[in-house]
This record gives sequence, C-alpha cells and structure tokens, in this order.
Amino acid sequence: MKKLTNKVALITGGSSGIGLGIAQSFIAEGAKVIITGRNQSALDSAVKELGSEATGFRGDVSSLTDLEQIYQQVSEQFGKLDILVANAGVYVLNPLADFTEEQFDKVSDVNFKGAFFTVQKAISVLNEGASVILISSTVNGKGVPNHAAYSATKAAVRSLARSFSVDLLPLKIRVNTLSPGPIDTPVFNTVASSADEARQMAENMGNFTPVKRLGKPSEIGAAAVYLASDDSSYLLGTELLVDGGLRDL
Ligand code: NAP
Repeated sequence: MKKLTNKVALITGGSSGIGLGIAQSFIAEGAKVIITGRNQSALDSAVKELGSEATGFRGDVSSLTDLEQIYQQVSEQFGKLDILVANAGVYVLNPLADFTEEQFDKVSDVNFKGAFFTVQKAISVLNEGASVILISSTVNGKGVPNHAAYSATKAAVRSLARSFSVDLLPLKIRVNTLSPGPIDTPVFNTVASSADEARQMAENMGNFTPVKRLGKPSEIGAAAVYLASDDSSYLLGTELLVDGGLRDL
C-alpha cells in the first residue's frame, strides 16, 4: 500500500536538487505533486522528468503576489493541498567582514520571508489534517565559517515550525522541520566560481560528516515521505535531522 495515495502536495523549489528528490519520492508513494520555481524552462524540464503526476507553477517565494497567484491556481486546478513543503532556498556565503546588505536581504527574503509567507498564504488551501514541512539545515544549530546569515535564516525557519504548529493546531495541521546535512545538489554551483570548485566544495562538506559522504536527494525524499504521511501523526513542531551525523556526533 502506497503511503500518499490521493494526496496533493506542493513543493516550492521543486525543479532542482532536494525539492526534485522530494517530488520523486512523493510521486512514488502515490501523490499528485505541484512544483514551483522561478525559472520556467527548469520547471518544464523537471515536470517532464517527473511525469504525468506532476504540474509546475512559476513563482518567486519572496513575492507575496506570486504566492497568491500560485495558490489561486492550486485552488482552481486541485482544490486543496494535503502536503506543503517550503523548500525553496538560496545559499549565500561570504566572510562576515565582507557580507553585504544586498546579500543579507537576498538570503533573508527567500529563506525566511519566503518560508513564512509560503505557509501563511497557503492556509486557505490547506486541508484539515495537512502536513507542512519546512526545509531548514543542520547548520541552524552550528557555527560554520562564512555561514552566519544563511544559518540564521535556517534557525528562523526552525523557529517557525514551532510557532506555526501552535497557530495551526485548530486546523489539525502538523508542521515539522526537516534539516538536511550536505546533500549532492546543484546548489554548490551558486557559491563556487567553477564546476570543479563546486565539486570540491561539496566533497569537502561530505567528508566533514561522520559518514564521510554527501547525502542524496532521495534520502531527504524518504524522510519527507515520513513527515508527510500518517506514519508521523504524533510529530508536531519537531526537527528531523537527516545529516549523516554532522550535528550530533
Ligand atoms: P538547488 O538545487 O539550488 O534548488 C533550489 C530550488 O529552489 C530550485 O528549484 C530553485 O528554482 C528554487 N528557488 C530558489 N530561489 C527561489 C525563489 N526565490 N522562489 C522560488 N523558488 C526558488 O538547492 P538545494 O540544494 O536543492 O536546496 C533546497 C533547500 O534545501 C534550500 O532551502 C536549501 O537551503 C536547503 N538545504 C540544502 C542543503 C544542501 O547541501 N544541498 C543542505 C541543507 C539545506 P529557481 O532558481 O528556478 O527559482
């Protein structure tokens, strides 16, 4: 028996990396999946890769207008959502002394403000009993060089899961945080000056974990299926670390 049969899920930033891995895992468990992202051609190729159970809606999570349009489309084409994954995020690194206001605003707007309004604007299209999953990062609880602003946005996301859980209790909506360690996705290309440097950076991060490897998007997908399904019916406001032991060992 599949775990997400007849469920409708929306994953922000589902056109790449972790979001795409979660979409694949949800579809394998019987869900219909809506993915979002800003780049239409990336969205189109991800929908093609995911197959007939996937739909793509374009939008920027830092724009409240875009979020309202996305949920309007959800309402018209699907009715309501059973699962919402606030996954869209950007990785912005710089030494503390060099970090600019523009970088600060960018990482905050997408990772913190984006996660907040992704959930707030969805409330009217969430079914009673829906599962909301916020993608944070293991670094929300660690000091890592050059990560101050990024890690703080992810700590804010972890805090939102607690507060949203209380606010949405009357609707029987469960909100939990899923915090990955270093996962093998294209995100490293956004902070490196070449593909080789990105690969080296990713491998170094994998080697920094106790298990000495990067995680796979499918390993985050498996954890997301658990949080999305009734298997986790007694979990609210918690954090599931899927990080190769990086935080705790
Ligand atoms: P990725 O491969 O770069 O994918 C990011 C996704 O988010 C893409 O679909 C991207 O599409 C979308 N996106 C970015 N900015 C957006 C915006 N303003 N509005 C809507 N969509 C946006 O990154 P990833 O590694 O899969 O990361 C996914 C999430 O996991 C992020 O929140 C990240 O912080 C978190 N995370 C990643 C790792 C890791 O090691 N990879 C570890 C811990 C946590 P467009 O560019 O087309 O918009």
